[in-house]
Amino acid sequence: MTSTMRRTAFRMAAALLALFIFLFDTLSPLEGAVAVLYVLVVLLAAGTGRRIDIIVAATASLVLTIVAYMGTHSLHAGAPILRALVSVAATAIATALALKNQAATATLAAQARLLNLSHDMIFVRDPLGRITFWNRAAEDIYGWSSAEVMGRVADALLETRYPIRRDAIDGILQDTGRWDGTLEHRTKAGNWITVESRWALQRDGHGEVVGVFETNTDVTERKAAHTALVRSERRYRHMFNASRVGVVQEDWTATRAEIAALGIQGGAAMSAYLAGHPEFVARLRRLTRIVDVNPAFLAMMGAETRADFHRSVDNVLVEADPTFGPALAAFARGDGFHEGETEIVTVDGRRVPVIFTITFPTAADGDGNVLVFVVDVTDRRRAQDALLQAQAELAHAARVATLGELTASIAHEVNQPLMAVVTSGEAALRWLRRPEPDLTEVDSALGRVVSEGRRASEIVKRIRAFLTKTPAPPTPLDVATLIEEAAQLVQRELVRAQVEFHVEIPPGLPPVIGDRVQLQQVVVNLMVNAGQAMAEHDGRRLLTIAAEHRPEAGIEIALSDTGPGISAANLERLFDPFFTTKPDGMGMGLAICRTTAQAHGGTLTVESVPGGGATFRLTLPVLQHGESA
Ligand code: ADP
Repeated sequence: MTSTMRRTAFRMAAALLALFIFLFDTLSPLEGAVAVLYVLVVLLAAGTGRRIDIIVAATASLVLTIVAYMGTHSLHAGAPILRALVSVAATAIATALALKNQAATATLAAQARLLNLSHDMIFVRDPLGRITFWNRAAEDIYGWSSAEVMGRVADALLETRYPIRRDAIDGILQDTGRWDGTLEHRTKAGNWITVESRWALQRDGHGEVVGVFETNTDVTERKAAHTALVRSERRYRHMFNASRVGVVQEDWTATRAEIAALGIQGGAAMSAYLAGHPEFVARLRRLTRIVDVNPAFLAMMGAETRADFHRSVDNVLVEADPTFGPALAAFARGDGFHEGETEIVTVDGRRVPVIFTITFPTAADGDGNVLVFVVDVTDRRRAQDALLQAQAELAHAARVATLGELTASIAHEVNQPLMAVVTSGEAALRWLRRPEPDLTEVDSALGRVVSEGRRASEIVKRIRAFLTKTPAPPTPLDVATLIEEAAQLVQRELVRAQVEFHVEIPPGLPPVIGDRVQLQQVVVNLMVNAGQAMAEHDGRRLLTIAAEHRPEAGIEIALSDTGPGISAANLERLFDPFFTTKPDGMGMGLAICRTTAQAHGGTLTVESVPGGGATFRLTLPVLQHGESA
């Protein structure tokens, strides 16, 4: 029912009752004080809560009382007039009370309206803790309507959690009439909220406690934000203290003031000014204060305590530091951060190379919290220096090696066929100078002279091609032929050294791709080495050459001997240029062999058990199906 409807109902009821009393008063023969009942009419009218209704009802009642009296009695009737006067008095008293009550109710309603405007949750508890008032904000935030909570005990409803004992709070309330503190309440939805609560004791005119007026501000979010802030601060502190990177907190407030006082506009102009005024930069170094440093930075500086560090940047940077000026320029430009590399001076005067990053806070945060992250790069620098040194040595070695390799390669490769030419030539001479020259032998010896001469010429041709950087075009080569040809070249040497020679080549191997002469040289070299190794060795002298097709690696040619093997120490350096154990050795053979293998996309490795011979493995890529040479 709306308030208007309620009001109309009260008015109708009052009017009907007044009519009924009037009729009864006039028509009934009863001589009672019926008019006294007009008190009820006034009370009914008061039910509308309107002052005007009370006055209208009272006036109407008076008029009706008088009219009824006039209609039924003469003016001077003794007892009836007295009764009429009593009725009028009763109506008047009821009216006065109703009006007073109405005024009080109106004040309360106005107060309640005001309280409903508040964003704080406000409620009133009677001395037993039961809720007698509950404002709109309380409805919104706690979730219960005013009607739901009326008469319920606030503590039980809200499951209030107190910061101190409840009776202590009551004690304070009794003594001072007030209490405030932080409470936790549970809403209808079951969430806990944190409120800042203010209590005020309410007393009536006689000083009797009539209730407690409680105002609560919801601070849940504020508290969460505060907690988050505290946590973040703690995390930041932890990072600051536990970081292995040195962190320096600096105050650039005075620095900013000095820069601003210059009145220079534009980043380029500022950079130019700073570059041209070292004394200004030096002054700002002294003005830029160190506020705090973390343990990592203390350690870097060789300092014991933080107290040693509440100084200026000037105490930390080396005299000739070139980075502070550019950092100032970045700061003046409003850059967010600046990086650089410089040196700092430790407490005991050592210079430490560092890289650093300065983070400038945004303008809104002020200049008091400039953070500088510093990393000691001593070790890194040392490693870098060593690397540079190694690179330089390597480059030098490579130059030497290329030259040496080339010369050695020419000498080495040409020497072999020349030696063979000489040997075969001498043999031919011997056959010729016999009393009866054996022309067949002469023929075959001269044949070898020619073929060795051709080989030497081919080598020279290839070296020339190499020098003019036109490598011989790779051709598919049959592995068995390659090994056979190489074996022919060294056959005599192997025989002289009494070496048994064994070849295990399965039929149908795919051809390898490469330069015939170069690859022949590799195999010849490995065979000669094996022969030489076994020549000084007692026991069986056997050289086995085996080839097999390994799909993942191509063709592998393994040369195993039964020589003395290679010591672990020598094994490491075997392929180094100029490594040799022979009195007249040059130490270039294996180096060249490996380079040749690699130039063909293959590998050359060795394994050896000292005393158990050595095995050299040469792998070479094969012609893939469908590939052209
Ligand atoms: P050089 O033959 O001029 O010494 P190499 O580079 O061909 O140069 O060989 C380097 C060294 O490797 C030899 O001095 C020798 O000590 C060792 N070596 C090579 N092949 C064998 C092998 N089959 N058995 C043992 N040692 C070997």
